[in-house]
Amino acid sequence: MAVALGVVAKALFRAPTGTRDILAPESARRRRLVSVFADLAERSGFGQLESPVFEDIGVFQRLGAASEIVTKELFEFFDKGDPPRHLALRPELTASVCRAFAEHRPTVPWKIWYSGSQFRYERPQAGRYRQFEQVGVETLGTDDPHADVEVIGLGMRFYEALGLKQVRLLVNSLGDADSRPAYDAALAAYLQGRRGELSEQSRVTLERNPLRVLDSKRDQDQPVIAAAPLMVDFLSGASAEHFATVRDGLDRLGAAYEISPRLVRGLDYYTRTTFEFAADALDTAQNAVGGGGRYDALVEELGGPPTPGIGFALGVDRILLACDAEGAFAAAPTPVDVFVVDVAGGASAVVLCDRLRQAGFGVDRAFDGRSMKAQMKRADRSGATVAVIVGPDEQAEGTATVRDLRPGGGQNRVTQHDLVPAVAKLLEGTTS
Ligand code: AMP
Repeated sequence: MAVALGVVAKALFRAPTGTRDILAPESARRRRLVSVFADLAERSGFGQLESPVFEDIGVFQRLGAASEIVTKELFEFFDKGDPPRHLALRPELTASVCRAFAEHRPTVPWKIWYSGSQFRYERPQAGRYRQFEQVGVETLGTDDPHADVEVIGLGMRFYEALGLKQVRLLVNSLGDADSRPAYDAALAAYLQGRRGELSEQSRVTLERNPLRVLDSKRDQDQPVIAAAPLMVDFLSGASAEHFATVRDGLDRLGAAYEISPRLVRGLDYYTRTTFEFAADALDTAQNAVGGGGRYDALVEELGGPPTPGIGFALGVDRILLACDAEGAFAAAPTPVDVFVVDVAGGASAVVLCDRLRQAGFGVDRAFDGRSMKAQMKRADRSGATVAVIVGPDEQAEGTATVRDLRPGGGQNRVTQHDLVPAVAKLLEGTTS
């Protein structure tokens, strides 16, 4: 045994199940995606909210006792307080947003956007992770259906901005406090009548929240779900009118959408408008690239004043999979402009890199006193347009050789003092 021999075996650690490292250039692509979203949201009057990655577990328990996200998937823990606090990593951001609203009472409408990691203890598979990233918006303090249209329209324009062409918009209305009880009763009675045909899991769900049975993806449940009563047939006058105005607004935007009467979504808090974006380029198991809806009771649940809200969360990881499948929004390595080659000890490169970076260029260099050949190879691989070379002669003279790495490019020697303008001249008209 290693221990008996006095040798401590080194463990090879891996990223925890359901998580992964995102390396360059993919990490740069994600950052670009978030910045496209941030730009669109800010141009639409949404300001960024940064909230904690963990909250009191009670914040998430308000998401509904029948949501698997709450019953099975929370990463929960106790801190070192006395008494210890019961906390959980956020599985989504809407609850945190409503908690922040109840805490700060900002003026309404409060329009915020966010981005960040979410955590759910799910069974990992393609497009399903235990740590994943979402971007989203929420508008609190108005139930104007045009706010719903603004939110849904923003999601649609975002996918377009990424170059995605095969994203379908599905919309539904789940009704309000006036229309829901009659529907819930009709649905429960129907499902109880066909209980024996449902999967075991759906029979358990039925006892907690009949509506959520409609969200089942299990084959066995599909015939029962297909014949279930529809919410649209139970909408109150006010809910029906709200939904009609949302649809009219989407028509005015030229949005192609489908009414999806069985769309209930995975969380219990939704009322009235619900919607989902489905990427047809992905398998059905992972094609939900975003979704959201109206939650008119959640802020009150979290101790705030009665405040309606509407928002969405889009799954960054899945959107990027859809981009891969459609050949859109490609990952691009960030090339450097200049590569500094120093074969005279490396000290000149320290200063020249700093000077060129301060002048605004993208600059890289080699380390470890590599040979001229090895450093030039690195320069070529870096994608740089210009190599700045310092050998013993240049070092003695206080000069540098500036070489244009493009095919047919020449080279000339300049004083180190004139290096920045010389490089600028060569790079004129190129972008990094
Ligand atoms: P939800 O908060 O469940 O409505 O999820 C919103 C979006 O987040 C989904 O449409 C997915 O794109 C994404 N998403 C949800 N759960 C996961 C997960 N476990 N892994 C990757 N993406 C996810």
